[in-house]
Amino acid sequence: MTGSNDWRDHYAHRMMRTLGAPLARLERGEGAWVWDDEGTRYLDFLAGIAVNSLGHAHPVFVEAVSRQAATLAHVSNYFATRPTMELADRLTRLSGAGDAGRVWFGNSGAEANEAAFKLARRNNSGGARTRVLALVDAFHGRTMGSLALTGKPAMRDGFEPLPGGVTHLPSTVEALEAAMDDSVAALILEPIKGEAGVLELPPGYLEAARELTRRHGALLIVDEIQTGAGRTGEWFAYQHAGILPDAITVAKGIGGGIPIGGLVTFGHASDLFSKGQHGSTFGGNPLATSVAGAVLDEIEGADLVGNAARRGIQLRERVEGLGSPLVAGVRGRGLLVGVALAEPVAGHVSAAAMEAGLIVNAANDSTIRIAPPLTIGDAELDEFQDRFGRALAAVADTL
Ligand SMILES: *Cc1c(COP(=O)(O)O)cnc(C)c1O
Repeated sequence: MTGSNDWRDHYAHRMMRTLGAPLARLERGEGAWVWDDEGTRYLDFLAGIAVNSLGHAHPVFVEAVSRQAATLAHVSNYFATRPTMELADRLTRLSGAGDAGRVWFGNSGAEANEAAFKLARRNNSGGARTRVLALVDAFHGRTMGSLALTGKPAMRDGFEPLPGGVTHLPSTVEALEAAMDDSVAALILEPIKGEAGVLELPPGYLEAARELTRRHGALLIVDEIQTGAGRTGEWFAYQHAGILPDAITVAKGIGGGIPIGGLVTFGHASDLFSKGQHGSTFGGNPLATSVAGAVLDEIEGADLVGNAARRGIQLRERVEGLGSPLVAGVRGRGLLVGVALAEPVAGHVSAAAMEAGLIVNAANDSTIRIAPPLTIGDAELDEFQDRFGRALAAVADTL
């Protein structure tokens, strides 16, 4: 019998030093719950960072993986498969890209944003458009291209030079107006900045961004990787603003746990790529696309988008109902929630939550990010309120 902490040393020794120490070693999950290797049960209100839309081991997910794995898992992009085309149709329908919409599939969010960055380069008007605008604090991924779009110096430091031409703007309409001209190929943004701490854009920003990009011939690209798949109470968060972008990127929650990413283009943006200009070996394989199709079908059939909207309001009420002096406010939409703390103790709160059997995330020093499965109901909210209340109280006692 080995000591229960041996795996921690093993991990520290063998895994690349890009990550902190793991919080636990998880063995299995069911619904909104996961169990570690000592049998301790945790309520998972992070859902693999907004990935496990249906929770863990959902029968629809399990059946889709098993059925497709037993049928046809991978073929290469020399061939078409039915699940790939059905998912492309579903994404263009749900996003409003409609009949002019086109889809490219990759395997992750960063890859989807790489494709979007290349799409922006294609909108060059014969070389006249050289600039891409992004936002300060934005997170778009860790590959060189998506990192060039990311507006977090701490992630960029040590990796320069990055692909050029990207300017990061403060998230105000004034800053956008000042920066926008006919040399801009694209503006890329997150409708809610998840990694930055669930920060919303100012009211009217998306509408103004739509108007300004249209006027100057720039693409409006919305990164829906964290906000999509119904998480905010609409299929995609830009739909709250009633606008249509030129392209969106998707990943995380659309697969419910199977790795997949995609770029969906609208209107004339669908004509920018031509044969041979982009590709991926795994991208769009029938295993990933059939599972994503089943996940989105379940979200649609069980009205989990509506559930995200309703449960999101209740979740916010539960947090406020705790009356903790540590809670300074609640941000976000639907089931993407940021709890603003009155003190920079988010790391202590997430650690105390683990002690109380609850997984939440310290998105920054003073924000707790909460992103449960879209399937949660009253029972999970009761458990959450009890556990989160205990975590906040434990930390408040030490201050
Ligand atoms: C997670 C995330 C990414 C990167 O996705 P990966 O699958 O980790 O590459 C990009 N943009 C946003 C908004 C994200 O939340």
